[in-house]
Amino acid sequence: MGQRYVFSFQDGDGKNKKLLGGKGANLCEMSQIGIDVPPGFVITTEACLDYLQSPDGELPASLMNEVKEQIKLVEKATGKGFGDAKNPLLVSVRSGSALSMPGMMDTILNLGLNDNTLSGLIAQTGNERFGYDAYRRFIQLFGKVALGIPDEPFDEALSAIKVRAGVTSDVDLTTKDLKEASMLFHRVVEERTSKPFPEDVWEQLTTAVKAVFRSWMGKRAVDYRREFNITTDQANGTACNIVAMVFGNMGNDSGTGVGFTRDPATGENKMFGEYLLNAQGEDVVAGIRTPKAIQAMSKEMPDIYHQLEELRDRLERHYREVQDFEFTIEKGTLYCLQTRNGKMNAASMVRTSVEMVEEGLLNKEEALLRINPQHLEQLLYPRLDPKDAPEPLAQGLPASPGAASGRCVFDADRAETMGRSGEKVILVREETKPEDIHGFFASQGILTSRGGKTSHAAVVARGMGKPCVAGAEGISVDVAHREAQVGDKIIHEGDIITIDGATGNVYLGEIATVEPEFSKELKTLLGWADDLAKLGVFANADTPDDAERARSYGAVGIGLCRTERMFNAADRLPIVVDMILADTAEKRQAALDQLLPIQRSDFVGILKAMSPYPVTIRLLDPPMHEFLPAENELLKQLEDVRSLRQTVNNVHSTLDSLKLVDPSILASYLEKPEGLQIRLVHLDANLINETQAKRELMLQRVRALRETNPMLGHRGVRLGITLPEIYIMQIRGILEATAECVKQGVEVHPEIMVPQVSSVSELIWVKNYVDEVRQEIEAKEGLKLDFKFGTMIEVVRACLTAAEMATVAEFFSFGTNDLTQATFSFSREDAENKFLPFYQEHALVPENPFESIDVKGVGRLMDIAVQDGRKSRPDLKIGICGEHGGDPASIRFCDYVGLNYVSCSGPRVPIARLAAAHAKLVKAGYDK
Ligand code: PEP
Ligand code: MG
Repeated sequence: MGQRYVFSFQDGDGKNKKLLGGKGANLCEMSQIGIDVPPGFVITTEACLDYLQSPDGELPASLMNEVKEQIKLVEKATGKGFGDAKNPLLVSVRSGSALSMPGMMDTILNLGLNDNTLSGLIAQTGNERFGYDAYRRFIQLFGKVALGIPDEPFDEALSAIKVRAGVTSDVDLTTKDLKEASMLFHRVVEERTSKPFPEDVWEQLTTAVKAVFRSWMGKRAVDYRREFNITTDQANGTACNIVAMVFGNMGNDSGTGVGFTRDPATGENKMFGEYLLNAQGEDVVAGIRTPKAIQAMSKEMPDIYHQLEELRDRLERHYREVQDFEFTIEKGTLYCLQTRNGKMNAASMVRTSVEMVEEGLLNKEEALLRINPQHLEQLLYPRLDPKDAPEPLAQGLPASPGAASGRCVFDADRAETMGRSGEKVILVREETKPEDIHGFFASQGILTSRGGKTSHAAVVARGMGKPCVAGAEGISVDVAHREAQVGDKIIHEGDIITIDGATGNVYLGEIATVEPEFSKELKTLLGWADDLAKLGVFANADTPDDAERARSYGAVGIGLCRTERMFNAADRLPIVVDMILADTAEKRQAALDQLLPIQRSDFVGILKAMSPYPVTIRLLDPPMHEFLPAENELLKQLEDVRSLRQTVNNVHSTLDSLKLVDPSILASYLEKPEGLQIRLVHLDANLINETQAKRELMLQRVRALRETNPMLGHRGVRLGITLPEIYIMQIRGILEATAECVKQGVEVHPEIMVPQVSSVSELIWVKNYVDEVRQEIEAKEGLKLDFKFGTMIEVVRACLTAAEMATVAEFFSFGTNDLTQATFSFSREDAENKFLPFYQEHALVPENPFESIDVKGVGRLMDIAVQDGRKSRPDLKIGICGEHGGDPASIRFCDYVGLNYVSCSGPRVPIARLAAAHAKLVKAGYDK
């Protein structure tokens, strides 16, 4: 027997999402645990890939035979016949890959209808209007998806009928109108394809399966996979589900809807959903009619509501995960059409994780693992400042939380263009469609005037963590005139608006936002993460304020305090410049003496803010020229000073001339101090001379300091060795600050870290400074200083000589920013601006090595350094302070190679805490 491509819902493996797609696998699983799913079967993702690769564009040879067998089973289960004119079986043909990509691929409903079977359907249901409604929907959808005809000609034909009938809504169309629509739609197909609409149901089915498979490579799907980094390992090809149709539009005892087992916006343990009576599923999802809240069903259809609640409980107990399900009620019978894990915002994920542990549905490990650490970033999103909330312009549904301001744009293409050029935009649409996806990527937020909380716009925005307000019905969008009307106000394209996805409010203009706070649930969850994780999470922070913020995010140490940032503050920079310009040792020392008390108080502040946690302070790293203006800037300044002197001279001679013309005019000018030119007369020429002399000296120094390759030049420890006074001042600042804290009874643990070290000799050299200063302070203060001395590991040679390094260093901290540059011989800025995007697109590098540790190269060096370092000093403390310290994949690697901690920017600390727990729970394996 050849390869098997088709599985019925009764025998497909519900766990094999790669083969059957998420939807197909879940349909199998639900059918097998006894949930009411309409009969059907799945064609595998392998069939899709074989089809996409086949040179002749044909489905695999055996496929349709298998499909025929399965259709027979569905016929048996439903008692209907596919293509049977009296009792027709209609099916839906649905896409579904291993990872959910909502709305990105195609689906066809009502397949199996033709002029013959239509009469059967009408006879069966006794509802001619329903029959024609189903028919015209099918022709349009099949025409669009399978035959590639755009919506416009169909929409135009239907609009013309509506105008003539004097109605605005589809529901008001009569049987006659819909009959005419079917006829006109047939004509559209014939005109556009030069062929009649396929009457043969098997031809329909084959064409539809091919179209669904092709939608895997459609632009929207490809863009979506690229944006979300979906690899072929995660999802490869789409499966195709063929399911017996059930109809939610068979009257008022029918309906359709979508449900979440918990509220996806808040995480509250309460069924959430929306439904429409007498409608098909697409009406809810596309947002064409505004649906009702599911709770309204408890009055409208109490029995079905009760069944839905049972369904919700069964789904959650079985999947042990919040489910997002679709259902249809056909003449009083409830069917579940699909279920999948609910996409939720981070706040709801956190809340449901904590509550599901409390309810005994999950254990703590499972609760942690179900949250993608990166997702927590959303919780750091700003919300509108309650103090700055004017009257809203309009109100819609709070469809995806967060607040955003931007220029409103009425179509996705323009949003993309403006977004790319760096503008902040809000995409404003009547309703969105999957083809708008590129506009979503480019926008800060999405606003629609129609549709509910489960409309396309809402689902996609939630998945992306972007704010969305949906169904703001007070806004009428006029794309043609590029404006929207709200009451008597007109909003033009380009006007700035603000949307608040947490309340559904829309405002004119930009509104201030405030930083979010940690919820109780997030604290609980991250507490569990800390208990489990092996890695500690530190923060990179340069000021006491930064340190305090990092602490509030849960950092248990500072892994990197970059002292150069302290040098750059406005009150210090002039002193630093004086130090650089000093032409004698005395002058340099005078500047350093001024800097010392400032640095000391910086260190006292940061050590106290972090007490009793460790604070790793790095001695000065960048080359000196970074503290001076650029050469061309200095040249410009000098030119300006010279022209100022010229202006002053000119004013003097102007005054002399005036005296000749009329001395009284001159006298009156001199009385008026507001005359700038006149006031320049009093400018002290010495001041100009001094300014000029200083700039000239700077220029000279800038030229003297110029290096061919400053990043590999006179910087870091090399500077500290050749200009010892700077490092000695900094070391003194740190140790005096330590002594001061100790005297005040504050527990502090400073760690002095040397950057750019490539040999143990350099480290010994600097250690000598430390020992000298330490002895002096200990003797003077009569106390023992407790601190660590260690090194950055950011140079390849440091990794390879780690055993020697560790004889002197008490700790290592990987500077993976520099180490990555050094390992690849890429300069980060040049790489990211020039060739790296191309390299990534063409898989020349697996991902950006500056974001995620390159395991094979940089990772190998780290591994060597860890192993060798601990051979000479078994208790060597090792961390990482490059950007990678906040990246979950890199954190996993850090755990794997045995680091003690990771250090990242403050706001990434919560992400790193969760990632550190994941790293411990999911032991990664790496090829060596
Ligand atoms: C590093 O190189 O990783 C590092 C932390 O140092 P910087 O980014 O300051 O060069
Ligand atoms: Mg560095």
